[in-house]
Amino acid sequence: MNYCIQCGSQNIAYEIPDGDHRPRHFCKNCDYIHYQNPRIIVGCLIIDDDKILLAKRGIEPRYGLWNLPAGFMEEGEDVQKGAAREVLEEIGADVDIFAPHCVYSLPHVSQVFIHFLARLKSHNYGPTPESLEVRFFDIKDIPWDSIAFSSTTYALKKYISDRQKKSQEFHIGVKK
Ligand SMILES: [Zn+2]
Repeated sequence: MNYCIQCGSQNIAYEIPDGDHRPRHFCKNCDYIHYQNPRIIVGCLIIDDDKILLAKRGIEPRYGLWNLPAGFMEEGEDVQKGAAREVLEEIGADVDIFAPHCVYSLPHVSQVFIHFLARLKSHNYGPTPESLEVRFFDIKDIPWDSIAFSSTTYALKKYISDRQKKSQEFHIGVKK
């Protein structure tokens, strides 16, 4: 931070504020403290019988790789609304979210993924400006070598192992 976003001063320090436990950028002019916290990404694992929907990314990063529809939560949203909005933006479809599926933390990039289990409300879905291709995969056909993010691999593997056990659990994972 070069300028204070509250008062415009360039008198910025990077120190541990009184009563805190780690260094922050803060303004010595107006005492504004700039907190940086992890970002939340919400998405859906959409199922149809024994098939799982994946969308081929039409935007960077990981252009052309397969992913679960997901994206950054917006201010003023709850997590389910955010996940449903991301599905609408990425594949043009409305979903019914019926269960939480997993939380996956990536501490090295300060991100937290929350994935829900969902079903399409209708079979209207398809490519969008964000997705080159959208399709349901049989589990045996999932393109494991072309998955965009480890959060998607994690969510898929947990879902598949739940299915094999005929259970539906909530999973918490961390990218090591
Ligand atoms: Zn300031």
